[in-house]
Amino acid sequence: MKNNATDWHALHVEEVTRELDTDLEKGLSTAEVNLRLKSFGENRIQTKKRQSSLVRFLLQFHQPLIYILLAATVVTLFLGEYPDSAVIFAVILINSIIGYIQETKALKAIDGLSKGMSTSATVLRDGKKAVINSVFLVPGDVVLVQPGDKMTADLRIVAVKDLQVDESALTGESISTEKNPVPIDGDVMIGDKKNLGFASTVVTYGTAKGVVVRTGDHTEMGKINQSIVSAEELDTPLTLKIKQFSHILLWVILSFSVLILLIAWARGESLADAFMVAVALMVGAIPEGLPAAVTIMLAIGVSKMANRRAIIRKLVAVETLGSTNIICSDKTGTLTENQMTVQKIIAGGELFDVTGIGYKPEGKVLYEGEEIVLNRKPSLQILLRGSVLCNDSRIKEEEDRWIVEGDPTEGALISAAEKAGIKDHYTDQYFPRIDEIPFQSEYQYMATLHQYDENLVFLKGSLEAVLRTCESMLDHSGERVPIDKAYIENTAEKLASEGLRVLAFAFKTFDSSKITIDHSDVVEGMVFTGLQGMIDPPRKEAIKAIELCQGAGINVKMITGDHALTAATIATQLGIVGKIENGKLKALNGLELKKLSDQELQEVVEEVSVFARVSPDQKLRLVKALQAMGHVVAMTGDGVNDGPALKQANIGVAMGITGTEVAKDAADMILTDDNFASIEAAVEEGRGVLDNLTKFIVWTLPTNLGEGLVILASIVFSTQLPLGPVQILWINMTTAVLLGLMLTFEPKEPGIMNRPPIPVNKPLLTFPLIMRTLLVGSLIMVAAFLMFRYELSIGASIQEAQTVATTVFVVLEIFYLFNCRSFRRSIREIGFFSNKWIYVGTTLMILLQLLFIHAPFMNKLFHSAPIGIDSWIRIIAAGIGLFTIVYIEKGIRKRVAGTDDF
Ligand code: ADP
Ligand code: MG
Repeated sequence: MKNNATDWHALHVEEVTRELDTDLEKGLSTAEVNLRLKSFGENRIQTKKRQSSLVRFLLQFHQPLIYILLAATVVTLFLGEYPDSAVIFAVILINSIIGYIQETKALKAIDGLSKGMSTSATVLRDGKKAVINSVFLVPGDVVLVQPGDKMTADLRIVAVKDLQVDESALTGESISTEKNPVPIDGDVMIGDKKNLGFASTVVTYGTAKGVVVRTGDHTEMGKINQSIVSAEELDTPLTLKIKQFSHILLWVILSFSVLILLIAWARGESLADAFMVAVALMVGAIPEGLPAAVTIMLAIGVSKMANRRAIIRKLVAVETLGSTNIICSDKTGTLTENQMTVQKIIAGGELFDVTGIGYKPEGKVLYEGEEIVLNRKPSLQILLRGSVLCNDSRIKEEEDRWIVEGDPTEGALISAAEKAGIKDHYTDQYFPRIDEIPFQSEYQYMATLHQYDENLVFLKGSLEAVLRTCESMLDHSGERVPIDKAYIENTAEKLASEGLRVLAFAFKTFDSSKITIDHSDVVEGMVFTGLQGMIDPPRKEAIKAIELCQGAGINVKMITGDHALTAATIATQLGIVGKIENGKLKALNGLELKKLSDQELQEVVEEVSVFARVSPDQKLRLVKALQAMGHVVAMTGDGVNDGPALKQANIGVAMGITGTEVAKDAADMILTDDNFASIEAAVEEGRGVLDNLTKFIVWTLPTNLGEGLVILASIVFSTQLPLGPVQILWINMTTAVLLGLMLTFEPKEPGIMNRPPIPVNKPLLTFPLIMRTLLVGSLIMVAAFLMFRYELSIGASIQEAQTVATTVFVVLEIFYLFNCRSFRRSIREIGFFSNKWIYVGTTLMILLQLLFIHAPFMNKLFHSAPIGIDSWIRIIAAGIGLFTIVYIEKGIRKRVAGTDDF
């Protein structure tokens, strides 16, 4: 076998197959593939190396707080306060380790999820078509591609049908390149190697067969190694807001520290002591752990959503989901079951009813209540024959269930034809297919060319697309008569307004010299054969989910390629609300949409909630219009051309089952079950995560404020420090992890979907949050300061008094934690034990605090000392007091402000 440097583009197809020892009809054998996998390795491009673990660990030290602590370590060393330097340095280390672990966890959560959506490839192996994970491709594999597929290795194209490829990922050139198998002489640029398909490029049109010539790092993409940077952005608007806030705070506190030094200097006190005070202030008042906590909480949200069948590709999405207020969803398959069954057929001016459910080809075709004899209905026969010939799907029985291989719409047609007595293999044999135009949403039709006495083209598609091309139609005896478009349109509308998905059919004859077709062959002169109307029932879960969304202030809009009347009827069944016109939900048609200016569209888009016959580029316009009106939009998509709309949407949602690789690439979220209900579930989880995040912030900020205030108070009253720097470090290190993070495990509050979405531009510090922080922060400060002074006044040592002050902080935070478990419900309502982690954390915290108070080595390290039972009683009383005051505050705030949100 030749090496990777072979100029594959210059070889003839036969030479390529010989070189790679493969068979274009059968592909490789499994045994051969396994051998080649061993020698060539898996088909993976080494992704851009992430920062090494060491670098990531060292970067944890790159924070203002750590600089301050490092300085404090040095100063305490000089002062001979060795235990202090040891503790402070240990804190730096522990802090970095925790930060590192959290970051690693978050990265892993995200990595793991993007792995879940590996790309697949359709190959020929052992003479059969198979869909495999693309990492198992080897040189010599025969690959089939269709629109929406990503090339998963470098391919030598051996056969094409109108293949067009978007190579912008590789060449930066955004115009699609046409490809063909013709050998090319000499040394040409990548862009001119028209018989090669390159890894990471995308098929935008047509189909092709290719032989894998290079895999993994040997592909052009692998060589450039500007590899697909995986989505591992950890910053979100919220973490950025918090970082900004921390930085502002840092400067405020630095100025205070300078002030402290100046005061000490003016008063003639020791500068070393003043420095320690300043360090204590900085350590206490800056919530440095917050961004990391937020990241880890969002990452937890990612895994919660994955459990509910929504795979998140970007961390930001978790946050954005909580703010989403419009969901634009596809109809077919997402809101509906995608279980199509033909119920009505119109042929030769006659209406036929079809019985039976699902795809099972058992049932009857009735005319005026009587079962038909196919031979006596020539028009019906031609219609049904066309519907199975112009068809790429199959139905089959699997474990007592009839399923479709391919497109459900087409499956329904086959089932209906079989009920009437037409078998597809029978027709295929007599009418061999020689060419085709595959179905594309933009054109809304599909056509096939067949060999017969004279060659035949069968066309099927939407009513508009087919009727446009017809000049005659068949009457009940199968004779051609002039077309009666008004009759056909009226009949189709009747079917559509019953919620049926309507397909129209036509054919045309050519002489036998006609061996290829393209769009220009089916623009006129077609013979209309009839209509088929199929049901596609709404998903029950979708009805429920839509109701939940509406209660949650989220507007659901349906965007579909289907007929306006079908769409409006299904939308009504689903409970979608929107503008009503003539007693029916108004559906805006793609054609009408086209006529609107961007400005006009913005007005319409607010009130209309059903958009029919919409093309992918119009989806993009719709998203933009909605965003211009200030909405946060989730938009679903699955097709090749949905990419731009999915990228533009705040949350692009791709279908995991039916979605193309392109759509999945562009999406922020992938639904593993293609179900609308999973979007709603993800929104619910997103809200839960944001809720718990807010709880954490509401809980943590008062501590920082309290610590800052206690130190300022000691300066104002010119007394000893109630909390030394190491004690503040103790409080911050232990409580954040053991108490604060436990709020992550709070279950979602009941009624989480009864609130409006959280505005995206909501500031971090809202008025209620500031008020709460001021209240609780000063209460903690007062309690700690007074008790510190009291202990000293009754003759306690400074160590004992400081231990009491530290314990006040810890205990009050425990009590306040229970205030923060829910904003809206009392503890009784959410259940005492609905979050058992709170108790685990609290117990551990108490044990640690006892150690802090009573263990001699802790006393040495943290300048603590054992305290008496009276002190404990006073501290616990203060805790109960704080809990009660906050409890009352909640009640008052709810009554005065009318809301209990932060
Ligand atoms: P949606 O998925 O939103 O229902 P599509 O873009 O898939 O819309 O389909 C739009 C229209 O194209 C359908 O209403 C139907 O008339 C027609 N159509 C759908 N699938 C096929 C197909 N396989 N062959 C021919 N026409 C089709
Ligand atoms: Mg569709």
